[in-house]
Amino acid sequence: MPNMQQKKTPMPEQAPEVRCHNFAEVAEGYTEEMAKNEAQRCLNCKNKPCVSGCPVGVHIPDFIAHVANREYEKAFQIIKLTNSLPAVCGRVCPQETQCESKCVRGLKGEPVGIGRLERFVSDWHMKNGTEESTKVPSNGHKVAIIGAGPSGLTCAGDLAAKGYQVTVFEALHVAGGVLMYGIPQFRLPKEIVQKEIDALKAKGVEVKTDMVIGKVLEIDELFDMGYEAVFIGTGAGLPNFMNIPGEALVGTYSANEFLTRVNLMKAYKPDYDTPAVPVHKVAVIGGGNVAMDAARTALRLGAEEVHVLYRRAEEQMPARREEVHHAKEEGVIFNFLTAPVRILGDDKGHVQEVECVKMQLGEPDASGRRRPVEIPGSNFKQSVDCVVVAIGNSPNPLIRSTTKGLEANHKGCVVVDEETMKTSREGVYAAGDAVSGAATVILAMGGGKAAANSIDAFIQGKNK
Ligand code: FAD
Repeated sequence: MPNMQQKKTPMPEQAPEVRCHNFAEVAEGYTEEMAKNEAQRCLNCKNKPCVSGCPVGVHIPDFIAHVANREYEKAFQIIKLTNSLPAVCGRVCPQETQCESKCVRGLKGEPVGIGRLERFVSDWHMKNGTEESTKVPSNGHKVAIIGAGPSGLTCAGDLAAKGYQVTVFEALHVAGGVLMYGIPQFRLPKEIVQKEIDALKAKGVEVKTDMVIGKVLEIDELFDMGYEAVFIGTGAGLPNFMNIPGEALVGTYSANEFLTRVNLMKAYKPDYDTPAVPVHKVAVIGGGNVAMDAARTALRLGAEEVHVLYRRAEEQMPARREEVHHAKEEGVIFNFLTAPVRILGDDKGHVQEVECVKMQLGEPDASGRRRPVEIPGSNFKQSVDCVVVAIGNSPNPLIRSTTKGLEANHKGCVVVDEETMKTSREGVYAAGDAVSGAATVILAMGGGKAAANSIDAFIQGKNK
């Protein structure tokens, strides 16, 4: 008999007043009893709508049925068939707009907690599973992957599973992309990401770090080195700015820099050389997940006051509801319908204030959301010593400017055929944020998967 409880089995969490002072994970994960209880809410529907909502097609009801029977390793092996980063996806995927949005249980209550169960199974496997080396014999063909984010790692894992000799070239000194440098430890522990990367390496994927393609080597040189196809998964790591006066003052950061200093360079740890980010009163500009991560990170760095300044209304925020809820619980102050117009500094060039103007909502714009319109004369100043700009990222132009014949659109995104992920250059494929602009982990993974299939077809077709 299925468990007809209308709500998801609650996830234990650190209390807000405790967690806002530490970097440990906020959500603590299900126990076996909780996981079984939640798994029993799944009706195992015949047409499995949840699977169609997953960009990598995880066989969701099948793995959940194994959880209900306490067969966790079997559940893990099912997830692993299509998802090479399950512990990551179980934590950061926006399931509410993907698999869970299609769940039949959501019609009369809350959907099954698919993400929570995926996380439980992956964590169980990391603790108890015995990873057998599944290196597939080489098929003699070499593929180069540029960028070790979720799209590149997925493409690499899928190709290695087909016998390709895969080399991932990563610009930073650590693999993982945004999973390592962007998403904070308290949402996605770095040890978890590292274990997923280690599992890919055990499959034979080679990762070369400190390799900025477009500088150290160009794509044409990769072909000269014997790689038969190249995948571009370079993400969208170039921060956008507002172009208002004062953005160059000391104490103004892009969210990328702010988060990288903390996540990757561990600025909050006294035994690291990275200079600490001094924060007391912080303004974070933006309303997406990146803004939430920056605001919650600032609190954990010891800020007394953290304000999110967002030019639209709360209902229009692109951030996940769960993230906004967590940020509010932790004490982040939200200032909606508020847009910064300039940042003011002291005589040493340090941030001292941010001047804002109040907005009201006008007619819908191209995005379908009501356009924020300035209220004349509503300017006010807020005293701050740190401003974090989190208003979006664009793809870095390096690869497109060093690769002849690689088509990009007006936003700098690489143009691909949406099914095959093939670019305008023969043998070159691309996916993830480099193609879509800033999006999600699972969409990047879905694109990496599609590209791996196309690269396989391309190389096998060429060698017939
Ligand atoms: P990336 O993860 O950006 O990886 C690209 C990699 O390529 C990087 O490692 C980069 O160093 C490397 N690279 C770039 N140029 C070169 C070059 N020339 N040569 C070699 N290597 C290069 N998504 C979610 O689904 N859920 C979330 O909760 C979420 N939170 C986020 C929080 C933050 C702070 C940010 C910034 C993003 C968040 N996202 C979230 C979005 C998600 O992380 C991205 O959509 C996803 O990581 C894109 O994957 P990717 O592989 O395309 O690129």
